[in-house]
Amino acid sequence: MSRTDILALFEKHGVLPTPQRLEIAGVLLARPQHLSADQIIDRLRTAGSRVSKATVYNTLNLFGDRGIVKEVMVDPVRKFYDSTTHTHHHFYNVSTGELHDIPEDAVAFAQLPSLPDGTTEESVEVLIRVRDAD
Ligand SMILES: [Zn+2]
Repeated sequence: MSRTDILALFEKHGVLPTPQRLEIAGVLLARPQHLSADQIIDRLRTAGSRVSKATVYNTLNLFGDRGIVKEVMVDPVRKFYDSTTHTHHHFYNVSTGELHDIPEDAVAFAQLPSLPDGTTEESVEVLIRVRDAD
């Protein structure tokens, strides 16, 4: 995604374009991908960035809150930031720690419960855990 595209995305989601936010978005939104905060920090360091860890975490939280990235929790201590924000599903390989996309239309539900009173559906997304076969 170009700097112009990122600036347009920030404006659409009400995010002020600080230099640090542009750097972080430049890494994460470069292509469709899933990155952990540590992976993003590594890539920033490799590129010579001096953005602090705290700023990276705060910025990722902001991006998640504003819908610029999708947060995917694969277990209680491991979160990925997904540059693809529309509804889709995932395979998570517990052997390798890798997350892969499953297109939305590759999963169908035979039955879902009725929604609690006073709510509307936001999304239904599936995380399928796999492990490498022996
Ligand atoms: Zn994904």
